[in-house]
Amino acid sequence: MQQNQTLPAYLTERLTAVYGEQAPEIIAGMVKKKTAFRVNTLKSDREEVLSQLALAGISVEPLPWSDIAFTLNADQEETLRSLPIYAEGKIYLQSPSSMLPPIVLQPNAGEDLLDMAAAPGGKTTQMAALTGGKAFITACEKDKVRAERLKYNLSVQGASRVSVLVQDAKALSDFLRFDRILLDAPCSGSGTLIAGDERSCRAFSEKLVKNSATLQKQLLVKALGLLKAGKTMVYSTCSILPEENDEVVRYALSRCKAQVLPISFAGKERVPTLPSLPGTMCVAPTDLYEGFYVALLQKG
Ligand code: SAM
Repeated sequence: MQQNQTLPAYLTERLTAVYGEQAPEIIAGMVKKKTAFRVNTLKSDREEVLSQLALAGISVEPLPWSDIAFTLNADQEETLRSLPIYAEGKIYLQSPSSMLPPIVLQPNAGEDLLDMAAAPGGKTTQMAALTGGKAFITACEKDKVRAERLKYNLSVQGASRVSVLVQDAKALSDFLRFDRILLDAPCSGSGTLIAGDERSCRAFSEKLVKNSATLQKQLLVKALGLLKAGKTMVYSTCSILPEENDEVVRYALSRCKAQVLPISFAGKERVPTLPSLPGTMCVAPTDLYEGFYVALLQKG
């Protein structure tokens, strides 16, 4: 891989072209993250988890926008993974940025939800928990091996009422209709790279960005087609490149009757962001957050 400083050269070039003087600060945030998890309210609660952590000598810090999500030093992750609360699915290890799309989507009990690109299931299980296990979730995943991981996680986390479809989401029946859709799209992962870590940068390439953008546009147009009129969906990626984010949203809006709704949740102002289309949110990479993009769309 051709490297420019500590990131793939193409990514450094694009970040500089897009974000100008902000690029060095963005790259400085592409570091190894703290470990983060959320309490799985389908199986436990904040008090039980915090008391088990205290007994194990693990100290955690709450995230500013959630009562049930915490961070801890990465060197305590192994101990955390050895605890019964982990094996029993009472917690789910998930990056803070990755918890945002379901929070923005705000699914409700009784709704028909589609998680269009679901494995390994972090956000499917989070949506199940947010709805008290009372929503009807269709979780679609194209990759057979990843779908097995999804099924395993659903089972450990106690997420029932989830139907897993192992298929290409582009081929979902056009007769289906959902109350809410999450499209956490396959992407280049540009927001998750760790500068200087060859392993984390290995898969990234210009071609991956271009192929991802093409697929993302197809999936987002498909998602809007499957959404009931007047209802909302979230489009998210773990990329901070506009060609996978704002440009995909603009493309879909030029073809479908839909609009961007402004994102709002308690504590939103505490999340560091980069410039993006008004109403959307592009999370800046830091030692706590992965670079991430979230857009809330309403079908006309
Ligand atoms: N939402 C997941 C979570 O929070 O755990 C992560 C999803 S990951 C970003 C994207 C997923 O989409 C991958 O598991 C990938 O295999 C799957 N995928 C890629 N192309 C797809 C397609 N055409 N239809 C359905 N799933 C697809």
